[in-house]
Amino acid sequence: MKCGRRCDGEYGEVVEPQAFKVRGREVTVPVSLMKCDACGDIMYSPEQMDRAQKAVYAEIRRRENLLAPEEIASLRLCLGLKQEEFERLLGLGPKTVVRWESGRVFQSKAADALMRLVQADRANAVRLADWNGITLPYNPPLRRTLGRRSRSAP
Ligand SMILES: [Zn+2]
Repeated sequence: MKCGRRCDGEYGEVVEPQAFKVRGREVTVPVSLMKCDACGDIMYSPEQMDRAQKAVYAEIRRRENLLAPEEIASLRLCLGLKQEEFERLLGLGPKTVVRWESGRVFQSKAADALMRLVQADRANAVRLADWNGITLPYNPPLRRTLGRRSRSAP
């Protein structure tokens, strides 16, 4: 593709570290983008922009040790809860979980810690369900099930 910024260059795809600012954080990650070989002007295709944003968000999560969107979704599904029910379990406002699971919004450190407590021990989910007035679908704790089996084994 021709550059056109009063320049005879051509855009070509390159992978380069780029600095991004997201919600008060500065992150530099290697991303794929289009760069003019003469003037150095850069631009992103929609797919490159999307991939760059994912890389930036993943880097921020890695740096701040936050659960990934897929981890949040899998925790919720393990509890057998819909997004609205998971919001009520954690005492969150509407649409919070859908935003976290889409990866466009970061959970707070406090919310992340709460989810990790639920992930570490289902008893914490049971307590939260009790406090926030929701019913968890029945799902026997794995350890107790295994214990019963080993006791009844010959
Ligand atoms: Zn150019």
